[in-house]
Amino acid sequence: MPTAIDPKVPSFVPVPAASHFPLYNLPYGIFSPAPTASLRAGVRIGDHVLDLSVIEDCGLLAAAGLPPGTFDQPWLNRFMELPAEQRRLVRLLIHGLLREDEPTLRDDATLRARSLLPASSVTMHMPVMIRDYTDFYSSREHATNVGIMFRGKENALMPNWLHLPVGYHGRASSVVVSGTDIVRPCGQTIAPDAATPSFGPSRLLDIELEMGFLVAGSNELGTPVSVDEAWDRIFGMVVVNDWSARDIQKWEYQPLGPFNAKNFATSISPWIVTIDALMPFACEAPAQDPEPLPYLREQDRRTFDITLSIDLQAEDDEPLTICRSNFKHLYWTMAQQLAHHTCTGCNLGTGDLLASGTISGPDKGSYGSLLEITWRGTEPVTLPGGGIRKFLADGDRVTMSGVCEKDGLHLGFGEVTGRILPAHKDLQ
Ligand code: CA
Repeated sequence: MPTAIDPKVPSFVPVPAASHFPLYNLPYGIFSPAPTASLRAGVRIGDHVLDLSVIEDCGLLAAAGLPPGTFDQPWLNRFMELPAEQRRLVRLLIHGLLREDEPTLRDDATLRARSLLPASSVTMHMPVMIRDYTDFYSSREHATNVGIMFRGKENALMPNWLHLPVGYHGRASSVVVSGTDIVRPCGQTIAPDAATPSFGPSRLLDIELEMGFLVAGSNELGTPVSVDEAWDRIFGMVVVNDWSARDIQKWEYQPLGPFNAKNFATSISPWIVTIDALMPFACEAPAQDPEPLPYLREQDRRTFDITLSIDLQAEDDEPLTICRSNFKHLYWTMAQQLAHHTCTGCNLGTGDLLASGTISGPDKGSYGSLLEITWRGTEPVTLPGGGIRKFLADGDRVTMSGVCEKDGLHLGFGEVTGRILPAHKDLQ
């Protein structure tokens, strides 16, 4: 049994050249093969989904010693809480099963028909039961841009920003899977020249290009996770669109931070790409000055080179790419976020989602929110069909994606997409 996966090994399942899902990727998700069928776990390969509940049921993952029915579940949590070594073994077994030179599944037409389904024929669901959601603010470029807009160039970064990964506790119940429509939120806002606030649909509805990671395993309440232990607690990553109502945020955020502006929807891509699959794309995170306090100092200051993009598409129009950014720009790493989150003894558990915060790059084309792209509405975007956008209009669709490429190896996250529906009539 090999202990490492060779990225160059092909599969007997055809994989289109530009596919995000070569045999090496094997991201996990939850799907239903038909509207009335139960939810179960799968991995994506090319344009197909391998039904892991069938593969497990046939005994083909027996060498991993999984608890019975690990993949016959509506969420991945039961698999995610297994030790990292056991999860790695499962990845090896699945990879071995799909190799071009392995006949077990390749030559069994009945089992193939039961377990290997066209991706276009299945429905994707939330991959994880998200227990808790925390959102960070880890992009120096984003924090600086927002700081300049609201406080001026001299005070762009708050005094704490270079010393700790700033974050807040978000809302898990409204984290939704890609494809879910987003209803424009209503809330309190105040017009620039008004003395009192008014209530109604948000007029400054925005996006936030983020990536999130899913926590594997639990630490006991009162027991911090060190920055160097943190990597074994990270199951994998997804692309995140953290929808935000800027006008609601501006009025409500002092002194406790955002509330209604951020609690109505956060969309995630359906396939979780594991940290193991991302390792060929590891790179060094930006240097930190000043040096952080000892509990945030990493022996291996690792992040990943993931190219990110945002497409904005009005109803009956073509999509326009409005941003190209990269995950590697983030100042604070996932390990630092996890260590900081637990330094008080806060317990993180399997299925917690920790998101990066808006990922903006150094250049104008790399900003991860409309707030920055249109510079607070002063530089609107012109869409292919002639529409003008400062913020999102009803019917607009936003699609975000992430891709890794190195030495001929290419993999991706698929996409996270969502469309804006008009606000509730009763509330207007
Ligand atoms: Ca956010």
